[in-house]
Amino acid sequence: MSVYRRGEFHEFSGGDKSYLYLVPSGGIFAPDDLSKSLLKLLETDGLSRAEIVTQLRSDKYSAFELEECIDELHGAQAIVLDTDVTDLPTQIPEQFPLQTAVLNVTNQCNLSCSYCYEYGEDRIASSEGKTKFMEEETARQAIDLLFEQSHDRRSVHVTFFGGETLLNFEVVKSAVEYARKRAAETGKYVDFSMTTNATMLTEEIIEFLVKNNIGVTVSIDGPKESNDRFRVFQGGKGSYDVIAPKIRELLKTHRGRPIGARVTLTAQVVNVKAIFRHLTEEMGFTEVGFAPVTTSPVRLYAIGSNGLDDILTQFAELAEEYLAHALRNEHHGFSNISDTLQELHHGVSKAYPCGAGLGLIGVSPSGDLGLCHRFVDSEAGLIGHLNTGIDRTAQRAHLTSGHINNKYDCHTCWARPVCSGGCYHEAFVRYGDTSRPNLHYCDWIRGWTDVCLRVYGEIAARNPDYLKRFEDRKVA
Ligand code: SF4
Ligand code: SF4
Repeated sequence: MSVYRRGEFHEFSGGDKSYLYLVPSGGIFAPDDLSKSLLKLLETDGLSRAEIVTQLRSDKYSAFELEECIDELHGAQAIVLDTDVTDLPTQIPEQFPLQTAVLNVTNQCNLSCSYCYEYGEDRIASSEGKTKFMEEETARQAIDLLFEQSHDRRSVHVTFFGGETLLNFEVVKSAVEYARKRAAETGKYVDFSMTTNATMLTEEIIEFLVKNNIGVTVSIDGPKESNDRFRVFQGGKGSYDVIAPKIRELLKTHRGRPIGARVTLTAQVVNVKAIFRHLTEEMGFTEVGFAPVTTSPVRLYAIGSNGLDDILTQFAELAEEYLAHALRNEHHGFSNISDTLQELHHGVSKAYPCGAGLGLIGVSPSGDLGLCHRFVDSEAGLIGHLNTGIDRTAQRAHLTSGHINNKYDCHTCWARPVCSGGCYHEAFVRYGDTSRPNLHYCDWIRGWTDVCLRVYGEIAARNPDYLKRFEDRKVA
């Protein structure tokens, strides 16, 4: 006899309502009183349909209402039958058209940030004997590959990255022109973004960024004392005084798109709220995102568990501020929460943690193809070369080993729809294996996802119209 049991879900509340975060579907379900009674009934043991109806039937609930409730909860996978198949598909997708090419136009940098994954102690790239600056022809080949391999996608995205991207501004300029030409020829839409340390911004470059509506992310670690802790020129001089006026000019002039700041948190730089205030209120950034440094745990700048707890507390406080803004329909630039709310709103359930090696590839200055910008020029994560195309065997091997179904430690984790094991690069730096789940930060991920769910629930209960803004934004 088939019995119903509770499915896999995480309970949370927001705005005086209780919700279920359904796993693995990634859906959010608000149970009514009857649903709550039914779930309570199944708390310890499974029961057949008839047994559920018999036990809950009363003056309040008819058999018909109970049958409907069972079907609704089963449809949402809040309750399951033994015979249900609830796992993600084991097969990797048949086709994975490209959406984004990240062009590492140079692997050189004019700063010398000690935590940098490209130059620091955790470096995995080995570019000896290869060109350090991408040539125009290589950039054109990369753009051709993107357009060809985007198949039916109507829009593609080109991101410029480094080293310091602006050390090779001439190639950025010619690549933008060429990509626009290819877009016109193919009838597709092309969008551009770049990451920069802002040291080389000039009036001419800002004008180019504005004219071409290029999205910009600036790497900066907050006010002078925290930014200059690690973000220094070769020789040790801090970069803040050089970049601050240039960033102000960029923010004043480039009004077409939100300009984001990207902050790397380390054991020495963890004052999240003060950094956020400085970058938004004093500098004028529209969006600020934080990422703990990717590193081996033995480095002096590695964040220990106490530091991670502190960061989570500050993230939760900024999330409260975000919530207060959302209830007033006001913008708040804490992008870590808006990115996660967007995923929750779209009900994502990821088979892979990110698009690396799937819809996104990194291209090195010499034309090597990597899983993403962090793997270019490294043997790990190498999936071809522009001259020979994407190595489908290597790509399939990555997509097979990186699939959530092969991450056994994650199979009982309620946060897997949004985490899916975490960043491949972080896994490689920590464990020497891109396919390993990042088990060193699970508590943090679950803690943060719970905060985001609560904020989502509050907004859904008290100002649901606010969530419409996430409907147009596609999940990366
Ligand atoms: S890495 Fe940890 S938090 Fe992420 S899905 Fe796996 S078990 Fe969950
Ligand atoms: S592997 Fe890591 S760094 Fe690369 S795209 Fe994915 S999350 Fe980002």
